[in-house]
Amino acid sequence: MMIAENLQRVRAFLKPEVLLVAVSKFHAVSELQEAYDAGQRVFGESHVQELVAKEKVLPKDIEWHFIGHLQTNKVKYIAPFVSLIHAVDSLKLLKEIDKQAQKCGRAVDVLIQIHVAAEETKFGFTPDEAERMFAEGEWRNYPHVRIVGLMAMATNTDDESQIAHEFDAVRSLFEKLQSSTFTSQPSFCNLSMGMSGDYLIAQEHGSTMVRVGSLIFGERDYGKPFTP
Ligand SMILES: *Cc1c(COP(=O)(O)O)cnc(C)c1O
Repeated sequence: MMIAENLQRVRAFLKPEVLLVAVSKFHAVSELQEAYDAGQRVFGESHVQELVAKEKVLPKDIEWHFIGHLQTNKVKYIAPFVSLIHAVDSLKLLKEIDKQAQKCGRAVDVLIQIHVAAEETKFGFTPDEAERMFAEGEWRNYPHVRIVGLMAMATNTDDESQIAHEFDAVRSLFEKLQSSTFTSQPSFCNLSMGMSGDYLIAQEHGSTMVRVGSLIFGERDYGKPFTP
Protein backbone atom coordinates (compact mmCIF):
# COMPACT_ATOMS: atom_id res chain seq x y z
CA MET A 1 0.00 0.00 0.00
CA MET A 2 2.70 2.45 1.04
CA ILE A 3 4.87 1.37 -1.88
CA ALA A 4 2.17 2.16 -4.42
CA GLU A 5 1.67 5.59 -2.86
CA ASN A 6 5.39 6.27 -2.73
CA LEU A 7 5.75 5.32 -6.38
CA GLN A 8 2.95 7.63 -7.34
CA ARG A 9 4.52 10.48 -5.38
CA VAL A 10 7.93 10.00 -7.00
CA ARG A 11 6.43 9.66 -10.49
CA ALA A 12 4.41 12.83 -10.00
CA PHE A 13 7.63 14.86 -9.92
CA LEU A 14 9.13 13.22 -12.99
CA LYS A 15 8.87 14.47 -16.54
CA PRO A 16 7.16 11.80 -18.66
CA GLU A 17 10.34 11.20 -20.66
CA VAL A 18 12.44 10.39 -17.58
CA LEU A 19 12.60 6.68 -16.78
CA LEU A 20 12.14 5.64 -13.17
CA VAL A 21 14.32 2.73 -12.10
CA ALA A 22 12.96 1.39 -8.80
CA VAL A 23 16.01 0.40 -6.78
CA SER A 24 14.90 -2.64 -4.82
CA LYS A 25 18.16 -3.97 -3.37
CA PHE A 26 17.76 -5.47 0.13
CA HIS A 27 13.99 -5.46 -0.22
CA ALA A 28 11.86 -8.60 -0.20
CA VAL A 29 10.18 -10.12 -3.23
CA SER A 30 6.78 -9.24 -1.74
CA GLU A 31 7.74 -5.56 -1.78
CA LEU A 32 8.88 -5.74 -5.41
CA GLN A 33 5.63 -7.50 -6.25
CA GLU A 34 3.75 -4.63 -4.64
CA ALA A 35 5.59 -2.15 -6.86
CA TYR A 36 4.96 -4.39 -9.86
CA ASP A 37 1.25 -4.48 -9.06
CA ALA A 38 1.32 -0.67 -8.99
CA GLY A 39 2.62 -0.73 -12.56
CA GLN A 40 6.39 -0.53 -12.06
CA ARG A 41 8.31 -2.66 -14.57
CA VAL A 42 11.91 -1.45 -14.28
CA PHE A 43 13.87 -2.52 -11.21
CA GLY A 44 17.47 -1.87 -10.21
CA GLU A 45 19.59 -4.24 -8.13
CA SER A 46 23.21 -4.05 -7.10
CA HIS A 47 24.07 -7.56 -5.90
CA VAL A 48 24.33 -10.40 -8.40
CA GLN A 49 23.10 -13.25 -6.19
CA GLU A 50 20.13 -11.24 -5.02
CA LEU A 51 19.22 -10.18 -8.55
CA VAL A 52 19.42 -13.76 -9.84
CA ALA A 53 17.20 -15.02 -7.02
CA LYS A 54 14.59 -12.32 -7.58
CA GLU A 55 14.57 -12.72 -11.36
CA LYS A 56 13.69 -16.41 -10.93
CA VAL A 57 10.54 -15.77 -8.94
CA LEU A 58 9.17 -12.47 -10.21
CA PRO A 59 7.17 -11.83 -13.43
CA LYS A 60 9.07 -12.23 -16.67
CA ASP A 61 8.16 -8.86 -18.11
CA ILE A 62 10.29 -7.03 -15.54
CA GLU A 63 13.27 -5.16 -16.97
CA TRP A 64 16.19 -5.79 -14.63
CA HIS A 65 18.91 -3.17 -14.40
CA PHE A 66 22.19 -3.88 -12.66
CA ILE A 67 23.17 -0.60 -11.03
CA GLY A 68 26.11 -1.36 -8.72
CA HIS A 69 29.75 -2.19 -9.10
CA LEU A 70 29.92 -5.40 -11.13
CA GLN A 71 32.76 -7.87 -10.69
CA THR A 72 33.92 -9.50 -13.92
CA ASN A 73 33.61 -13.01 -12.51
CA LYS A 74 29.89 -12.49 -11.87
CA VAL A 75 28.86 -11.18 -15.28
CA LYS A 76 27.96 -14.67 -16.46
CA TYR A 77 25.11 -15.01 -13.96
CA ILE A 78 23.20 -11.97 -15.20
CA ALA A 79 24.18 -11.93 -18.89
CA PRO A 80 21.24 -14.12 -19.97
CA PHE A 81 18.55 -11.70 -18.82
CA VAL A 82 19.83 -8.30 -17.66
CA SER A 83 18.42 -5.44 -19.71
CA LEU A 84 20.88 -2.70 -18.75
CA ILE A 85 24.18 -2.63 -16.85
CA HIS A 86 24.58 0.91 -15.51
CA ALA A 87 28.07 1.08 -14.16
CA VAL A 88 30.74 -0.17 -16.54
CA ASP A 89 33.94 1.21 -15.10
CA SER A 90 36.67 -0.60 -17.05
CA LEU A 91 37.42 -2.06 -20.46
CA LYS A 92 38.08 -5.36 -18.73
CA LEU A 93 34.46 -5.43 -17.60
CA LEU A 94 33.25 -4.39 -21.06
CA LYS A 95 35.22 -7.25 -22.58
CA GLU A 96 33.77 -9.78 -20.16
CA ILE A 97 30.21 -8.57 -20.79
CA ASP A 98 30.85 -8.97 -24.51
CA LYS A 99 32.10 -12.51 -23.99
CA GLN A 100 29.19 -13.59 -21.81
CA ALA A 101 26.59 -11.87 -23.99
CA GLN A 102 27.98 -13.65 -27.04
CA LYS A 103 27.64 -16.98 -25.23
CA CYS A 104 23.98 -16.14 -24.67
CA GLY A 105 23.54 -15.14 -28.29
CA ARG A 106 22.57 -11.58 -27.43
CA ALA A 107 23.89 -8.07 -27.07
CA VAL A 108 23.74 -6.36 -23.69
CA ASP A 109 23.10 -2.64 -23.28
CA VAL A 110 25.47 -0.82 -20.93
CA LEU A 111 26.24 2.64 -19.62
CA ILE A 112 29.74 3.90 -18.92
CA GLN A 113 30.17 5.13 -15.36
CA ILE A 114 31.64 8.61 -15.04
CA HIS A 115 33.39 9.60 -11.83
CA VAL A 116 32.64 13.18 -10.87
CA ALA A 117 31.96 12.92 -7.13
CA ALA A 118 34.42 14.16 -4.54
CA GLU A 119 34.48 10.80 -2.75
CA GLU A 120 37.36 8.45 -3.48
CA THR A 121 35.14 5.41 -3.20
CA LYS A 122 33.02 5.96 -6.30
CA PHE A 123 34.04 3.96 -9.33
CA GLY A 124 34.21 5.08 -12.93
CA PHE A 125 36.16 6.96 -15.56
CA THR A 126 36.84 10.64 -14.98
CA PRO A 127 35.53 12.73 -17.89
CA ASP A 128 39.09 12.98 -19.24
CA GLU A 129 39.68 9.25 -18.97
CA ALA A 130 36.35 8.57 -20.63
CA GLU A 131 37.16 10.87 -23.55
CA ARG A 132 40.49 9.14 -24.00
CA MET A 133 38.89 5.69 -23.77
CA PHE A 134 36.28 6.59 -26.40
CA ALA A 135 38.92 8.12 -28.66
CA GLU A 136 41.26 5.14 -28.42
CA GLY A 137 38.48 2.92 -29.70
CA GLU A 138 39.16 -0.48 -28.11
CA TRP A 139 35.50 -0.46 -27.02
CA ARG A 140 34.54 -0.86 -30.67
CA ASN A 141 35.91 -4.42 -30.61
CA TYR A 142 33.01 -5.66 -28.51
CA PRO A 143 29.98 -6.15 -30.75
CA HIS A 144 27.93 -7.90 -28.07
CA VAL A 145 27.82 -4.82 -25.88
CA ARG A 146 25.99 -1.72 -26.92
CA ILE A 147 27.03 1.45 -25.13
CA VAL A 148 23.79 3.39 -24.79
CA GLY A 149 24.84 6.25 -22.54
CA LEU A 150 26.50 7.36 -19.33
CA MET A 151 25.84 6.94 -15.62
CA ALA A 152 27.07 8.93 -12.66
CA MET A 153 26.62 9.50 -8.95
CA ALA A 154 27.03 12.92 -7.37
CA THR A 155 28.81 13.57 -4.10
CA ASN A 156 26.74 12.74 -1.05
CA THR A 157 26.36 16.31 0.20
CA ASP A 158 23.69 18.87 1.09
CA ASP A 159 25.39 21.37 -1.21
CA GLU A 160 22.95 21.42 -4.11
CA SER A 161 25.13 23.65 -6.24
CA GLN A 162 27.97 21.14 -6.01
CA ILE A 163 25.61 18.32 -7.01
CA ALA A 164 24.27 20.38 -9.92
CA HIS A 165 27.79 21.23 -11.02
CA GLU A 166 28.79 17.54 -11.03
CA PHE A 167 25.70 16.52 -13.01
CA ASP A 168 26.40 19.34 -15.48
CA ALA A 169 29.91 18.00 -16.05
CA VAL A 170 28.50 14.59 -16.98
CA ARG A 171 25.80 16.06 -19.14
CA SER A 172 28.28 18.14 -21.08
CA LEU A 173 30.47 15.07 -21.70
CA PHE A 174 27.35 13.16 -22.75
CA GLU A 175 26.34 15.85 -25.26
CA LYS A 176 29.86 16.08 -26.59
CA LEU A 177 29.95 12.33 -27.21
CA GLN A 178 26.50 12.41 -28.78
CA SER A 179 27.67 14.92 -31.34
CA SER A 180 31.02 13.24 -32.01
CA THR A 181 31.77 9.57 -31.35
CA PHE A 182 28.11 8.51 -31.23
CA THR A 183 26.67 10.86 -33.81
CA SER A 184 25.47 7.96 -35.97
CA GLN A 185 24.18 5.96 -32.96
CA PRO A 186 20.86 7.36 -31.76
CA SER A 187 20.77 4.59 -29.14
CA PHE A 188 23.40 6.56 -27.21
CA CYS A 189 20.66 8.56 -25.52
CA ASN A 190 20.60 7.57 -21.85
CA LEU A 191 21.94 9.56 -18.95
CA SER A 192 21.46 7.74 -15.64
CA MET A 193 21.80 10.29 -12.83
CA GLY A 194 19.91 10.88 -9.62
CA MET A 195 18.96 8.89 -6.52
CA SER A 196 16.40 9.54 -3.74
CA GLY A 197 18.33 12.52 -2.40
CA ASP A 198 19.10 14.25 -5.66
CA TYR A 199 16.83 12.96 -8.42
CA LEU A 200 15.04 16.27 -8.88
CA ILE A 201 18.34 18.10 -9.29
CA ALA A 202 19.45 15.39 -11.71
CA GLN A 203 16.27 15.78 -13.74
CA GLU A 204 16.83 19.53 -13.99
CA HIS A 205 20.36 18.85 -15.21
CA GLY A 206 19.59 16.50 -18.04
CA SER A 207 19.06 13.07 -16.51
CA THR A 208 16.93 10.69 -18.58
CA MET A 209 16.91 7.88 -16.01
CA VAL A 210 16.75 8.17 -12.23
CA ARG A 211 17.57 5.38 -9.79
CA VAL A 212 15.32 5.78 -6.76
CA GLY A 213 15.29 3.32 -3.86
CA SER A 214 14.51 4.53 -0.37
CA LEU A 215 11.82 7.03 -1.39
CA ILE A 216 9.87 4.10 -2.83
CA PHE A 217 10.68 1.16 -0.58
CA GLY A 218 11.75 2.90 2.64
CA GLU A 219 15.06 2.53 4.40
CA ARG A 220 17.11 -0.56 3.63
CA ASP A 221 17.89 -2.92 6.49
CA TYR A 222 21.47 -3.92 5.75
CA GLY A 223 21.56 -6.13 8.84
CA LYS A 224 18.76 -8.35 7.64
CA PRO A 225 19.85 -11.19 5.40
CA PHE A 226 18.05 -11.21 2.07
CA THR A 227 15.44 -13.92 1.60
CA PRO A 228 13.71 -14.25 -1.74
C1 LIG B 1 21.31 2.06 -3.84
C2 LIG B 1 21.57 2.83 -5.06
C3 LIG B 1 20.65 3.78 -5.51
C4 LIG B 1 19.37 4.16 -4.79
O1 LIG B 1 19.66 4.86 -3.63
P1 LIG B 1 18.49 5.61 -2.79
O2 LIG B 1 19.22 6.68 -2.08
O3 LIG B 1 17.91 4.58 -1.90
O4 LIG B 1 17.51 6.12 -3.77
C5 LIG B 1 20.94 4.42 -6.73
N1 LIG B 1 22.05 4.15 -7.43
C6 LIG B 1 22.95 3.23 -7.01
C7 LIG B 1 24.16 2.99 -7.84
C8 LIG B 1 22.74 2.56 -5.81
O5 LIG B 1 23.66 1.64 -5.42
